[in-house]
Amino acid sequence: MSRSTAAHIDLNALRNNYRTACERAGSAQAMAVVKADGYGHGIARVAAALSDVAPKYAVACIEEAITIREAGLSQPVVLLQGVHAAGDLAECVQHRFEPVVHGEHQLDWIEQTGVAPDFWLKVNTGMNRLGFRPDDLPAVMARLAKANARARLRGFVSHFACADDSDSLMTAAQTARFEAATSAWPTLMKSVGNSAAHFIPGQPLFDWSRPGIMLYGGSPVIGKTGPELGLEPVMSLQAPLITTRIVRAGESVGYGGTWVAEQDTRMGMVAIGYGDGYPRHAGTDTPAAIGGRRIRLIGRVSMDMLAVDLSNAPEAQVGAPVELWGQTVGVDEVASCAGTISYELLTGVTSRVPRVYLS
Ligand SMILES: *Cc1c(COP(=O)(O)O)cnc(C)c1O
Repeated sequence: MSRSTAAHIDLNALRNNYRTACERAGSAQAMAVVKADGYGHGIARVAAALSDVAPKYAVACIEEAITIREAGLSQPVVLLQGVHAAGDLAECVQHRFEPVVHGEHQLDWIEQTGVAPDFWLKVNTGMNRLGFRPDDLPAVMARLAKANARARLRGFVSHFACADDSDSLMTAAQTARFEAATSAWPTLMKSVGNSAAHFIPGQPLFDWSRPGIMLYGGSPVIGKTGPELGLEPVMSLQAPLITTRIVRAGESVGYGGTWVAEQDTRMGMVAIGYGDGYPRHAGTDTPAAIGGRRIRLIGRVSMDMLAVDLSNAPEAQVGAPVELWGQTVGVDEVASCAGTISYELLTGVTSRVPRVYLS
């Protein structure tokens, strides 16, 4: 008998969410962002499940792109962080990886090696993490022409800092800066737009959008859950009850004794903890579910288990599967109880948790 703790992954829901992204992208095409092991869902299976609909993938680094090739998939893969070494450029050519060139050193590598894969130029429109300033673009383009790499340039990318916040003026300002910066090269493609940008009315997404979290059913928008945005949960994180007991009034449960029973309470221990990626910061009253009924966590999350109050599920016995997040309890809700975002919870599920695929 093995521990039945598992992340159940609904690949149909993933495909439906990708379709939703495409509908919201309008005339833009959507590159499927599958970095960080497909946001914790398993990059090979996620990429394969989207392979008949997604014309392009995006990942952070070349190692992730290689796992897509190892899965037998041939679509171009954008490397959002570009290459980390000059020697990787040849591999990009060979495998049809499209690195983003975001800094001077990466331009140097193209000049020094004379190797240029298809690539993208990153424009810094206000995020101020990566990219060239709009003023620098003419000089960059001149260098590319001189290095005979200009023909390989597919287009320009930029990234929004505040697209999750519909009250922010930043996205409109960044969009205007991006359009102005790239207007001298109208035949090149343009890509902005993480998931959140798909939900901003009237937001231009140009040629390619880059949906990530929305494919996995997590909400990219502050104050909204994935289902409220028409997204389907993809991961259902489940773990079994491994014991039940009555905690008497006045007794505490778990490390630190932080939760004390006010009355005799039937509680259960669930075989999942922060060693599996369940957030330790999720405190008492964080929701979970059993048989479609909502229950709550009590006390501190341990490495391998956590405690739940079974008052709402009096029939629940040892072995019953508890949903930590999924259909009944949204991952966004749990994230908010833990002071974080669904991205961190989904990417944080550790390798101890087997991924089980439904398609
Ligand atoms: C991760 C990433 C995305 C996807 O962002 P989501 O918020 O998950 O949709 C898009 N573009 C870039 C540059 C990224 O790094």
